[in-house]
Amino acid sequence: MATEKPHINLAVIGHIDHGKSTTVGRLMYEAGAVPAHIVEQYKKEAESKGKGSFAFAWVMDSLKEERERGITIDIAHKRFDTDKYYFTVVDCPGHRDFVKNMITGASQADAAVIVVAAPDGVMEQTKEHVFLSKTLGIKQLIVAVNKMDASKYEEARFNQVKADVGSLLKMVGTNPDSVKFIPISAFEGDNIIKISANMPWYKGKTLFGLLDELEVPEKPTEKPLRVPIQDAYSISGIGTVPVGRVETGTLKKGMNVTFMPANKTGEVKSIEMHHEEIPQALPGDNIGFNVRGIGKDDVRRGDVCGAADNPPSVAEEFSAQIVVLQHPSAITIGYTPVFHCHTAQTACTFTELVKKLDPRTGQTLEENPTFLKAGDAAIIKCHPTKPLCVESAKEFPQLGRFAIRDMGQTIAAGMCISVVKKQMR
Ligand code: GDP
Repeated sequence: MATEKPHINLAVIGHIDHGKSTTVGRLMYEAGAVPAHIVEQYKKEAESKGKGSFAFAWVMDSLKEERERGITIDIAHKRFDTDKYYFTVVDCPGHRDFVKNMITGASQADAAVIVVAAPDGVMEQTKEHVFLSKTLGIKQLIVAVNKMDASKYEEARFNQVKADVGSLLKMVGTNPDSVKFIPISAFEGDNIIKISANMPWYKGKTLFGLLDELEVPEKPTEKPLRVPIQDAYSISGIGTVPVGRVETGTLKKGMNVTFMPANKTGEVKSIEMHHEEIPQALPGDNIGFNVRGIGKDDVRRGDVCGAADNPPSVAEEFSAQIVVLQHPSAITIGYTPVFHCHTAQTACTFTELVKKLDPRTGQTLEENPTFLKAGDAAIIKCHPTKPLCVESAKEFPQLGRFAIRDMGQTIAAGMCISVVKKQMR
């Protein structure tokens, strides 16, 4: 039997075309996670198209083309193993609505690889992604300076990109010394699983080596149960099966659980993970669970499940600390963008601009500012336009962080400080 390795959710982020897909593909290929028949098929095609030896980059570009044509090639569920861990790549590089995926995906990530192409350096989305990973609370970062082959494997270019990303990290309050930087070529396979002879000046570990140095986050099993719901199914012969990921606490068979804001209670009859029945589910487990006493339409995406005697909070109003990333003009009271919080998407109205803060030090710059603009950090109060479960990020980080989106753009990100609870009957 295979021994159970600890699991880490990994986000691979960065500006478009900087090589996220190629990096993920390369990691999976080197880890032996791409099914042999797919490798074989592409080797043959590479040969027939006169690519001589097996050209990895060509394979990745073909995969990308197929994806763009809508053909799904399932590269082993984006799962790969290193010596110590098994990884799931939680976001979906190359997807069009990438930032939105990052918000929902990255809030679940334990660590992130930020890919920055050496020839281009820091770009718009690099900034956005560094900012979001900070606000969404991803503590472990690896910066992969990619396409080193296209920058003649020059140490000076690597150092320049490292310095630029370093300033960006400082801006969001992260010490660059706490972040690992590595020069790679996902295309050529430099420093991925083997130390590259092309960059003798680099004295660090390979990307696999750095991934093995990450730490497994502690599981908050002792906290109250919270399971944001992704979807609910009705399965004949079984009944209603909500699906979601346990964020905190422990879900046990036989427990009475309450879904909020739906305010429906039922008994857990069975829990399933990876198509196997399990007696209990812990933080990080993606599960489906059958609940007796509720109907399929009683529960929907965005609801949160908790123990019946300690149900999730539904906010009448909440205070939050936010950082504004971009906005075409100015944000004033009454602004009602969509908050993406755990699995919920709910429009919330800014009801008070409490104070403007120094984004670096957190010190108050202005009480009751009349507006907020790009670059500002602030404490605000907001009112959900329909019932929303949100918790203070201090108590439940995964349920208190959110991104604010409007007109297809990420306007701001932040975390909930306190909740005025709505009375539920
Ligand atoms: P994504 O949009 O960030 O997922 O980027 P892709 O992985 O699709 O890569 C964008 C383009 O850059 C593709 O044509 C890749 O073949 C190319 N590319 C990716 N990694 C490397 C690399 O290490 N070196 C070079 N020269 N090109 C690369």
